Amino acid sequence: MLQSTRAMHRKSSKPDANELVDSVETKQPRAQFANPVDPIAEILRVLRQGERFLVCSHSRPDGDAVGSTLAMGMLLEQLGKHADLVTADRIPAVYRKLPGAEAFRTLLRVHGHYDAAILLECDGIERTRLRGLEEFRLINIDHHVTGRPFAHLNWIDCRAASVGEMVFRLARAAGAKLTPQMAACLYTTILTDTGGFCYGAVRASTFALAEELVAAGADPTAIAHNIYFSAPASKLLLLGAALRRLHRDGKLAWLWITQQDMVRSCAADEDCEGIVNVALGIEGVEIAVFLREIPEGLIRLSLRSRGRVNVAAIAARLGGGGHENAAGYTIEGPLPRALDEILSELRGAMAGLTAAAM
Ligand code: 5GP
Ligand code: MN
Repeated sequence: MLQSTRAMHRKSSKPDANELVDSVETKQPRAQFANPVDPIAEILRVLRQGERFLVCSHSRPDGDAVGSTLAMGMLLEQLGKHADLVTADRIPAVYRKLPGAEAFRTLLRVHGHYDAAILLECDGIERTRLRGLEEFRLINIDHHVTGRPFAHLNWIDCRAASVGEMVFRLARAAGAKLTPQMAACLYTTILTDTGGFCYGAVRASTFALAEELVAAGADPTAIAHNIYFSAPASKLLLLGAALRRLHRDGKLAWLWITQQDMVRSCAADEDCEGIVNVALGIEGVEIAVFLREIPEGLIRLSLRSRGRVNVAAIAARLGGGGHENAAGYTIEGPLPRALDEILSELRGAMAGLTAAAM
């Protein structure tokens, strides 16, 4: 049943969905109200007082998750602290060449003594898919419009182009040296979260930060080459399968991948990244949806909008979250049902826009 599916994916620690969606739709992220007056100073105080820290991000990590975790580890190291970098899912091959990436440990349960666990880009501990985090003092650093103040110390800034940008501000406030390694990791976070400086919270200050990172030793062509021009053949085979199922209805476009496609293409999870953008790239399309079957009968959805429809609000209503123009969620299958549901949600949102314009 749909209702129970949603309940299954809406974790108990999350606030009431209507409350969240309200705040998303009025563009007043409630989480911002939970920020301390000076979150950077508060976080630095905790970092300076402690000795051992755990740093992690969300499951199926992307460029911001990987780059910001690595940079946070480097900052802690400069402060003379011990940092364990952990992830529930392996790091995608394109990010494994980042400096320090070999330090990541892939595990499902965390143990040991830590003064705090730092969660980057997460709206709750569930988003990490790591067990055992509830034992620790938690620091939450996030830039999603659907961010939540779930931790003991929360810093949510929806204007930041990436969480890496926030780690940069933290490093600068700490007086840390911006090493070429740290710069490369941070540059990766803004490059990937803005889709190559094309969307998201990209503005003049994003380029100023990019300039500073390149001046500090980040190599923009080498990083772009690794991320955008080193695709394994499996990724292209998968894209071919998805394109055969490309559908369009006016301003909406959608495409999907089955588990059989994954097997036939010898594809890894990470090979799905970017497929949704191909659908959004069609002239006249305003919203694109990419669906894919994942194990246990679940479907993962990626939503992209050119800006008029707030897809974060829709994803949040269905148990996920994200940014106003890039969001996602996971829901119970089968795929045709998940597709029908999202198409009717999106048609409703588009109709609302048309009515508002009249
Ligand atoms: P993607 O479609 O690339 O997986 O995700 C797009 C954006 O939505 C990212 O910023 C990602 O963090 C966010 N997002 C995707 N899935 C989920 C989800 O299940 N929960 C939350 N809170 N955010 C999600
Ligand atoms: Mn991000």
